[in-house]
Amino acid sequence: MRSAGPGVIRGRRGRCGPGGAMSADDELSLLIIVLDTNPIWWGKRALGEAEFTLSKCIDAVMVLGNSHLLMNRTNKLAVIASHTQESRFLYPGKRWAAADPFGEGGPSMESNCSGSKDGKYELLTAINDAIAEEIKDLMTKTDMKGQQTETLLAGSLAKALCYINKMGKDLKVNQEIKSRILVIKAAEDSALQYMNFMNVIFAAQKQSILIDACVLDSDSGLLQQACDITGGIYLKVPHMPSLLQYLLWVFLPDQEQRSQLVLPPPVHVDYRAACFCHRNLIEIGYVCSVCLSIFCNFSPICSTCETAFKISLPPVMKAKKKKLKVAA
Ligand SMILES: [Zn+2]
Ligand SMILES: [Zn+2]
Repeated sequence: MRSAGPGVIRGRRGRCGPGGAMSADDELSLLIIVLDTNPIWWGKRALGEAEFTLSKCIDAVMVLGNSHLLMNRTNKLAVIASHTQESRFLYPGKRWAAADPFGEGGPSMESNCSGSKDGKYELLTAINDAIAEEIKDLMTKTDMKGQQTETLLAGSLAKALCYINKMGKDLKVNQEIKSRILVIKAAEDSALQYMNFMNVIFAAQKQSILIDACVLDSDSGLLQQACDITGGIYLKVPHMPSLLQYLLWVFLPDQEQRSQLVLPPPVHVDYRAACFCHRNLIEIGYVCSVCLSIFCNFSPICSTCETAFKISLPPVMKAKKKKLKVAA
């Protein structure tokens, strides 16, 4: 390191911080876990008497969240449930905001820390209880309406980005926040959400927010692209009941620590795009030269931006017509 460097940094920190030595507290690390709670997918698993159920999955998520908070006292956590009807914050949820035992006014432990007799850190107990309450409410009180059977993953990711943005605005002077999103995906991809999903990914990339994906069942092309574009890790869990081990081993370390680990090798990314007309994944298609919409079939007017194309199909046609005339 050059001699001028550290001096400059020390000077800047010394002026703003109360004690001068606050480097560790200046960097917040926010982990947002997006959990796919698709009731149809998890319901099928429960019916098939699989040993790995939603409650086991939530247990693993709680352990990961608790471990992240234990790594550093400035670490922050949020958990979002991605459902078929809505995306909901499990933590910090609505109830949490109302009760908030550790809010600005300082901790008032008596309120709702029943499980802290075992010496466990009270905040972790409170968070786990809040997540369990919220997920119970979500699973029991949400009716299945209409034909919506797909997980609203793009919406949940957008919610996560908004939360990250809000946290960034609430920072104190001199503080920095590093945010990443971990998606735990269960159900199949939805091609209907392709456009929203890509917009969310590019927004995350612009904000240098990492998206990690831990896929439980079938591979997800959308998440492969998300991880590849934002520099996150994509992992399809080989053995579902050992989810927690994979979470702690692969997804707990942050970006800096990861460079020192031997992590699963990158996967082959399925970069096919979905056509805007039928939402099919295609390898070769037509692209509107004005708005870059993708179509599987040629159409003379772009359905997105309504540009009419002057197509030079005629060369072949004209030649044929001329020949016909000559023949006649
Ligand atoms: Zn199409
Ligand atoms: Zn267009």
